[in-house]
Amino acid sequence: MNKLCFAKCRCERNAVVADLSYSDRSTDRTNEISGRGIRPMLVAIHDFAPVFLRELNEIVERLYPLIGGQMSAAVVPCWHGSSEGNSSDGYRRLLGVVEERLLHGWTHQSCFPYHPISLLTGQADEMRGLDRQTIIERINAGQAEFSELTNQPAEGFVPPAWQLPIRSTDLSSLGFVVRYTVIESCQEPYRAYRLATWSWDWGRLGCVSRGGEIFGRIQSLCHPVAIPCVVIHPIDLRRGYLPYAEQLIRKLLDHGYVPTTATQLMSDRSETP
Ligand SMILES: [Zn+2]
Repeated sequence: MNKLCFAKCRCERNAVVADLSYSDRSTDRTNEISGRGIRPMLVAIHDFAPVFLRELNEIVERLYPLIGGQMSAAVVPCWHGSSEGNSSDGYRRLLGVVEERLLHGWTHQSCFPYHPISLLTGQADEMRGLDRQTIIERINAGQAEFSELTNQPAEGFVPPAWQLPIRSTDLSSLGFVVRYTVIESCQEPYRAYRLATWSWDWGRLGCVSRGGEIFGRIQSLCHPVAIPCVVIHPIDLRRGYLPYAEQLIRKLLDHGYVPTTATQLMSDRSETP
């Protein structure tokens, strides 16, 4: 799809997003999935912040011909303490192209930079080492800025660097949490979907990025009913891993998987996870 064509799609998509609320779209999609026994898959773009606008544009532009707007943006509303660029037209337009917007931390930056996990993740583990109250305060701060961006709070939370040292049910203001191997409801303790996650970003360990594919394959082999979840980061573009993600998405589509979102899955009351 060329840039002109993509721009047209984005305009059409924005018009749709402006007309429908999350719940309206989720209900439509849920009926499709549960009624036909469709096998769902997830595609998520993490670190969705204006500082990576060039990379995010290219990622969305390359995925759109494969899956349309059926992807999640894991939004960081105050990347490393800065909200600069949140109001830019380009960023807001891109937020309108994707089907789902989730909260991915407030700053995505740890308060304890010299912990081994912080060193390995490039200080991305914002919530690790914090107590419950502090985590809730940071999520609330993130939600306030997220709401300014999207006109409503996020339904779901994706922990930065997959680090969240408290139970999902402790976050009662949210609908669900997307962890590395599971989506958990914040309202119902036993409601969850198993995931098999493919991710190429392992912080500073760029040389082992292909290992993320192996983890994904192992999870899908050990848990055949797990929902495939393809996670892409802006840095994957710089490191040359986006083609591997595209290849995996094509393979999943060929095997009959249908792109959906976590919000749509969690709002489906007709199937037992
Ligand atoms: Zn992240």
